[in-house]
Amino acid sequence: MAGLESYLVAAVAFVLGASVGSFLNVVIYRVPRGGSVTNPSRSFCPRCESTIPWYCNIPIVSWLALRGKCLRCRAPIAIQYPIIETVTALAYTATAMLLRNDSLMLIACCWMFVSGLIVVATVACQRESLPKSFMIAWLATGAVCLVQLLACR
Ligand SMILES: [Zn+2]
Repeated sequence: MAGLESYLVAAVAFVLGASVGSFLNVVIYRVPRGGSVTNPSRSFCPRCESTIPWYCNIPIVSWLALRGKCLRCRAPIAIQYPIIETVTALAYTATAMLLRNDSLMLIACCWMFVSGLIVVATVACQRESLPKSFMIAWLATGAVCLVQLLACR
């Protein structure tokens, strides 16, 4: 029974992580361009500007089913999308499994930190626009969090 429970926790964390990863893609694309993450509320193709229907917006699955192309104009969709969704899903799953005996609050905090990590790391790689001091302070914060987490074991 404990095995089944672990699989369920892993599956829920994976699906949640993939969905959050889909949102992180929106943040990564829009925020550095000065856009809003809520307006437009639906995802759209950057080339033909058509709204992406929900069934073409299922994390990881849709990119694979569409073979990385827009359903309408066949413009290529960057492989970054399923990669971010998969990385987030795996990070959420690993966090949930490692901390499954801890509080949901700690797991949620780690998920939020990991989400920020993925956004900052991706934007920093794409744009090289973040000051080094910011990156150093942020990485130091992450290191302190990790040490605190391990000290609580
Ligand atoms: Zn298109």
